[in-house]
Amino acid sequence: MIQVKGIKKSFHETEVLKNISFDVKKGEVVVIIGPSGSGKSTLLRMINFLEMPDEGDVIIDNKQIHFDRKSKKHKNDADICSLRADASMVFQNFNLFEHKTALGNVIEGPTIVRKMKKDQATQRAMELFKKVGLEGKENQYPHELSGGQKQRVAIARALAMQPKVILFDEPTSALDPELVGEVLAVMKQLAEEGMTMIIVTHEMGFAKEVGDTVIFMDGGYIVESGPPKQLFEQPKSERLQQFLSRYS
Ligand code: ATP
Ligand code: MG
Repeated sequence: MIQVKGIKKSFHETEVLKNISFDVKKGEVVVIIGPSGSGKSTLLRMINFLEMPDEGDVIIDNKQIHFDRKSKKHKNDADICSLRADASMVFQNFNLFEHKTALGNVIEGPTIVRKMKKDQATQRAMELFKKVGLEGKENQYPHELSGGQKQRVAIARALAMQPKVILFDEPTSALDPELVGEVLAVMKQLAEEGMTMIIVTHEMGFAKEVGDTVIFMDGGYIVESGPPKQLFEQPKSERLQQFLSRYS
């Protein structure tokens, strides 16, 4: 469903992603863990083309975009825009439109990008509010919502685009501890429904429980990957052993 092949990315002279390759199957939940600065966010941003790889291929559902140092692909390239609509992103800091209501946030993408009629987008949004447990909050503005509620609006907004995959970048890191559970519960429900997801998180319990595959990144490389049981219980590399020891 999603293939990342030989992705490299440098900022200035520093190579931040060094030949990253992995596959994600339809309905699979891939959790990416790793220390700060290891390139996790940059990798997600490559899959959503918020940033362009220097080299490599990104394939979503058989649509392939090839990057090399000569082909200067632009963010507004038609192929890139089309693939970007297949991958919705959920950010640590929600990134909601502050001047729009929760409903306004959710229908923005479907009406503008997908050209859906407002009535239809609104009807669908109401179903999504129900799904994420926010019935009755549709007309609130982001500043009137808790962090956990804001993140659930962001998840509804991501779902409204009917994406093939949802990319989560530390979706619970900005939340008060008592609000983390409500967001993880919605994500777990999506996983059970077969949503394909790539999740960067420090929630190791969640990674173990919900992840099908865990990828450990360090220094711009994938150091180890495999089923959660294998990575958490029998980490091979010293770097992963050290990383996990901080969480126990
Ligand atoms: P964290 O856990 O702190 O979020 P991360 O694994 O997500 O870390 P990235 O944000 O991907 O790490 O950053 C990887 C490296 O790339 C860091 O050294 C960072 O400083 C650098 N970097 C990221 N974005 C840029 C940018 N736009 N310009 C310059 N350097 C950048
Ligand atoms: Mg990050």
